[in-house]
Amino acid sequence: MQHLVSGISSAGRAVPDLDGRPFLAVRAQGPHVWDDQGRRYVDTAIGFGAAFLGHTHPAVAAAVHAAIDRGSMPAFAHALEEEAAASLARHTGALSRVIFLNSGSEAVHLACRTARAVTGRRKIAKMAAGYDGWLDEVAFGNAGSTEALMTANERPARGDTLLMRFNDPADVELLFAESDDVAAVLLEPMMANAGCLVPDPGYLEHVAAVARAHGALVIMDEVLMGFRLHPGLASQRLGVEPDLATVGKAIGSGVAVAALVGTPAAMAGFEDLRVNRAGTYNGNPLACAAVHATMAALDAVDYAALLAAGDDLRRRIEQGFAAAGRPVRTTGYGTVFTLWNGAASPRTYAQAVAAADPGFTAHLHVELRRGGVISMPGPFGRHYLSAAHDTAALAVLADAFADAATRMAS
Ligand code: PLP
Repeated sequence: MQHLVSGISSAGRAVPDLDGRPFLAVRAQGPHVWDDQGRRYVDTAIGFGAAFLGHTHPAVAAAVHAAIDRGSMPAFAHALEEEAAASLARHTGALSRVIFLNSGSEAVHLACRTARAVTGRRKIAKMAAGYDGWLDEVAFGNAGSTEALMTANERPARGDTLLMRFNDPADVELLFAESDDVAAVLLEPMMANAGCLVPDPGYLEHVAAVARAHGALVIMDEVLMGFRLHPGLASQRLGVEPDLATVGKAIGSGVAVAALVGTPAAMAGFEDLRVNRAGTYNGNPLACAAVHATMAALDAVDYAALLAAGDDLRRRIEQGFAAAGRPVRTTGYGTVFTLWNGAASPRTYAQAVAAADPGFTAHLHVELRRGGVISMPGPFGRHYLSAAHDTAALAVLADAFADAATRMAS
């Protein structure tokens, strides 16, 4: 009898059996994962983006080992907490105040609570088809839901959560014309979880400006995108200064940690205890050691070269499929992108739904796996590159995609 429900701890972890066998990872290092048959794969799922430095980065692993040797769980303040907060804040500009949490979902939850306390308003407007974690309040209108397909004249709502349409500048104006109780807009710098839909030029700035003009805060959910375009918030690289941002995944290199970062004004409520936060494991030594070591390692990453290598891979993938007589497109950035069957590059969620081809992406996953690559199988799945994807790993990827294209065309 299997004790672990469905054999996985998170629904997103499901991948198809291959030749009657489930996939079971036993080791991960750099750009590679090994399964229980001893087979090595180049990994484009990299812990759903967490292993941005590559799996088991030596400096991060050493820092975590040292922290556990010194004591894994003191109840009271410990020396690594401020050190980790300072090294994170060095990368987030005006968002200089930090609270550590254990998951991105918790960070989003606290961001919403903070915005309500600051503004005295109740409602949170999130992007339709955006994923901001699994907690009830924002687990609404996600990709795949009916509400996510909202049309121009609809305003789906559940409780205090309202939806906005991505890449529709008029919709955010309408939202604030309809309601004066919006505490914050909540959005990803790129709609990664809806298939890496990139914001149109000026769109993020527009949403932020309209929200501010109406007295609402701007929360950037950077759990996925943070530290993936440069060593800092993706929104700041894309021209937006949020009041609050959530980060996770890449900041801990695979150790369970997330953070809410904010401007001193937005975070003031915690200082005078108007806003409550708690958590046994928040800012635990292992998490803090991982963040501190990760920040130092990120400073040494050549982001320009990595993004260029990813864009080159995307081009080679598209060329490989074209050569096999089957057009595909990719959307996103060099370090995180989605592949679409066909010649369309969606920029709205409706276009993404029209372009999504679950049969194609599931087939591609299987063919890549046979070619020594492990990847997310769903139509909105992402291929991530880490700083450890070196020339050899990139060559394996390019060849595996080209071979998959040939086999899928025949
Ligand atoms: N926000 C975004 C943009 C995410 O991509 C995720 C997770 O994938 C979350 C929030 C939730 O983070 P966690 O899974 O750590 O709770």
